[in-house]
This record gives sequence, structure tokens and C-alpha cells, in this order.
Amino acid sequence: GVTKKKNVLICDKVDSLMLDELKKREFDVNYEPEIASMKLKDSIEKYDIVILRSRTKLTQDILEKAVNLKIIARAGIGVDNIDTKYAKSRNIQVITAAGSSTHSVAELNVALAVSLARNLIPLDINSKNGIWIKDTGFELSGKTSGIIGFGRIGLSTAKILKSIGMEILAYDIFENQEAIKEVGGHFVSMNELLSNSDFIFILVTLSDSSSNIIGEEQMKMVKSGSFLINTSRSEVIDGRVLLNYLESGRIKGYATDVLWNEPPTEEWEKTLISKPNVIVTPHIGAQTVEAQKRVAEYTLNNLFAKISEMGI
Ligand code: NAD
Repeated sequence: GVTKKKNVLICDKVDSLMLDELKKREFDVNYEPEIASMKLKDSIEKYDIVILRSRTKLTQDILEKAVNLKIIARAGIGVDNIDTKYAKSRNIQVITAAGSSTHSVAELNVALAVSLARNLIPLDINSKNGIWIKDTGFELSGKTSGIIGFGRIGLSTAKILKSIGMEILAYDIFENQEAIKEVGGHFVSMNELLSNSDFIFILVTLSDSSSNIIGEEQMKMVKSGSFLINTSRSEVIDGRVLLNYLESGRIKGYATDVLWNEPPTEEWEKTLISKPNVIVTPHIGAQTVEAQKRVAEYTLNNLFAKISEMGI
């Protein structure tokens, strides 16, 4: 029989490969990479499929209007911007492109750690302004990394850190023994990790179980003078507590790819990112030529598989 062309909305900026592939097939594609939530709410009813990254929020009030929606495709990983509970209750399938940006985020993690340890960003600014100061930094080699959330990105990051000469500790609710063996590391409790690590990497999925997983209680346990790197989601850390610990010098530096508001809106958030020992990047973990190409490929493969599985 003749199947009706499926209506697809792409809400965020994606690789042109994805647009080309969709247009080649039986899809009516609407590309609106800057769509505002009000407009999304008003127009979502006509779509069968929505493709998004992390900018677009699919909250319950928007999904309630999505009467024809069958599949939400997250072009990337991390579905914390989607009300997955509500989607499930409506039988709307959610797919991701898990694994597509693993190398990119892992490389960024290591770059951020070295940048903190050698004070690279302030020194670059100094040098360009004719201020020639040789700051003394730290080696990563011989130090201990603590990885909170030892999944795909955690393992990939640990492999690089291990080759630099670091010891690996990890904390995860699911202890992948095979993976930790690959890097000669150890799973430990959160407190052991915090009190023994010189570099702490936060690579955990954001969910109800990990929201504010680093609060006052945990920050108290952090080894004095350690560096913190976060490329997962800001909400896993209590930001105001972090600001206090940065100001007291207890945390020597913080590098992050994610903020509570992107770009920041709250005063404490702006204060935090203005500090010279804080490095901020604008959510570029997956923003490489290679990762974006993979994101397009993985998203489409998973989308087509889901469509045929559902028989729609
Ligand atoms: P993954 O699922 O392979 O790994 C996440 C790990 O977190 C899993 O091992 C899981 O067991 C663990 N975990 C979940 N809840 C936990 C909890 N409460 N306590 C301890 N551990 C817990 O995912 P991944 O591919 O490694 O990606 C991790 C996260 O990185 C994503 O969810 C996403 O938020 C973030 N990410 C960011 C960017 C970026 O652009 N900065 C890009 C890709 C992914």
C-alpha cells in the first residue's frame, strides 16, 4: 500500500548529511534549528518525528500538543531535555545516537585537565598582552583520576589518562568490571574517590538519581587542591556550593562544557565562570566534524530501524 509521507521536524543544528539522507527518502522535512519553544508548541501537532539535540526542551506541556508524534530522535546522547516519563506514557519512542561523540568528549576532557593543570588559558591571555610570566603547573603523570560515571566516555577518557601515567578510580552505580580492568583501575565509593583523586571527572548521565550528586556533603570530602572537570551536565553539581569551594581555594580549578543556563543567566553562575581558575566552553563536547557526522549516521540508522520495527 501507499504509506503517507512522514512529517519530520529538526529542531537543532545538525550535519547536512542528515538533511540530505532524510530528503532522499519518504520524509517531509522541516529544518528549524533555532525554533523557539512557543513556536514549537504551536506547530508540533503536525509532526510524526522530532529530531533534536540538547538546546530544545521537550517538556510535558509541549508533548501534550504532539498528538501525532511517534518517535523522538535525540541526535546525540543525554535525554535529560526530554520528559521521557510522559513520552513513555503516550507510547512515543525515544531513540539516541549513543556512542557517536565518545572520542570527542574524551579528548576534550583531557584537554581541559591539562589546561587547568598548566593554567593555559590565563597564560595565553597574558602572553598576548605582552605579560611574560612562567607559571609553574602540575603534571598529570603519576596523579590519580577519579571518574564519576564510568560509561562510554568515562572509559574512553580513562584510556588516555592511563597512557599519560595516571591511576584510575571510578564510581558508578553499575560497575563494568571488564571496562575498569582495561585501564587497570578500581571501582571505589564516592567518598573514597573524592578524597583520593587529584583530578575528578564528572561523566555521569543526568537523571533524578544523579541530580546534585555533588553537593555540600560530597564537596567536603574532596581532596584539597584538586581539579574538577565536568562535561556531562551542570545539574549533577550544586553550583552555589562549588562556587564557595572555588573561592576558598579548596577546589583549585573547575573546567566545564556545560552550564545551568546556557548561556548563564544567574548572578552566581556569571561570578563562577568569570574566575581565572574556571574554564568554560559552550557545550562543544560533541562539536567536531567527526562526531557530528557519526551523530547523523547513528541517529538515522536508529531512526530507520525504529520505523521498521514499529511498522509505521
Ligand atoms: P553512558 O551511559 O555510557 O555512561 C553514563 C554512566 O553513568 C553509566 O555507566 C551509568 O551507569 C552511570 N550512572 C548513571 N546514573 C548514575 C548515578 N546516579 N550514579 C553513578 N553513576 C551513574 O553515557 P556516555 O556516552 O558515557 O555519556 C555520559 C554523559 O555525557 C551523557 O549522559 C551526556 O549527558 C554527557 N555528554 C555530554 C556531551 C557534551 O557535549 N558535553 C556529549 C556527549 C555526552
